[in-house]
Formats: sequence, C-alpha cells, structure tokens
Amino acid sequence: TSFAHFGFDEQLMHQIRKSEYTQPTPIQCQGVPIALGGRDMIGIAKTGSGKTAAFIWPMLVHIMDQKELEQGEGPIAVIVCPTRELCQQIHSECKRFGKVYGLRSVAVYGGGSMWEQAKALQEGAEIVVCTPGRLIDHVKKKATSLQRVTYLVFDEADRMFDMGFGTCEILVHLTSDLWSLTALLFSATFRKKIEKLARDILVDPIRVVQ
Ligand code: AMP
Repeated sequence: TSFAHFGFDEQLMHQIRKSEYTQPTPIQCQGVPIALGGRDMIGIAKTGSGKTAAFIWPMLVHIMDQKELEQGEGPIAVIVCPTRELCQQIHSECKRFGKVYGLRSVAVYGGGSMWEQAKALQEGAEIVVCTPGRLIDHVKKKATSLQRVTYLVFDEADRMFDMGFGTCEILVHLTSDLWSLTALLFSATFRKKIEKLARDILVDPIRVVQ
C-alpha cells in the first residue's frame, strides 16, 4: 500500500509529504481504510507504530464530510487517552494535520486549568483530545456537549484501565447515536478486560493486530 491508495485529497497529501513519511506503516495500511469506511476497530499497536496518524487522517476526512451535513455546537471527534503528556502529543498532531482544513483542536486533561480549558471549549473546536475524567467534568459543567460526536477514539486503552475505565463507557453513552458512531480502540496489549470493554462500546469491530 502507498499513501495514494487512501484517496486523501491534495491538501492532506501535501501535509503528509511535508512530514517526509515515505510509506504508510502496517497499522496505517490496515487501519486507515477501516476507519474511512466508518467501521469500528480494535487496533493492537504499540507507540512508535504510527497509530496516531492511523486514526487522525481518517478522522479529518470524517469531520470534513460531517461538517457539511451538520451545523451545530461541540466537537465532532473526541480522542480519549490516559495521560496529559499523551493528550498534548496527540493534540499537536491534530493541529499539524487539521490546519490544512482550518480545523481546531482543544486538549483537556486532569491537572490543567478548568477555566482555561472551558474557555477553549466554548470558543469551539471540531476535535477534543482529553483524559476521560476531565472531559466528563466539562460536560457536567456544560462547557461542552458530546451530542455532535460521531468519531470516538480510545488510545492506549490498556493504560486507561489502571485509572478506572468506567468513565469511558459513560462517554460512549453521552454521544447522541451509537449507530452513527465510528469508534476505534487502540491498545498495546489485548487482555480479557479490553475484550470486555470492546464488546461494550464497539459495534461489530474489525480487529487489526500490528
Ligand atoms: P505513534 O506510534 O503514533 O506514536 O508514531 C510514532 C512516530 O512515527 C511519530 O513520530 C510519527 O510522526 C511517525 N510516523 C507516523 N507515520 C509514519 C510513517 N508513515 N512513516 C514514518 N514515520 C511515521
């Protein structure tokens, strides 16, 4: 597979070329077409595999399709991850690729200023990168709503378990319509607990092992 197989438009291809990536990684080859097709997916992939781009590129295509259909408030895509550092890393990748379409990303994580994050959410963003507990706090305080979310990613799901995964299931139920949701779950390992979670939040997922 080459990047040309994904069918991305020239703006996104230009940004990928600027990154000097010569070819897609295995998780990108397998995962991108699945996510572009709107199917749910479990990706077993470690850091360094290129998994971040594997969910960000189809997310951008999804948002651009969705934006034309639906006006409204709140993010279209939400990426949930276990730590502040990972939030910031993913957020910066979202900005790097999202800027070609003028899309905005906001990062909200535990330990950061509630007030500043709420302000950023209220200014509007199509993409929110978050730790789960903090996003729930903002939803409860009505700083944002998940009504418009149709693309949901759980990154490093195995690490999130150690912080209590209950919150992640709640997130799925805060989105408006499970059936129009594209949900992707990434994990470095595949444990029994991940399998159970996947059954609870994904619909007929395709499993990709990198
Ligand atoms: P990740 O596994 O998402 O943390 O990505 C690991 C690193 O690989 C990041 O620094 C990315 O910029 C880089 N990367 C992502 N996709 C590719 C690619 N197709 N070719 C080369 N490097 C890539």
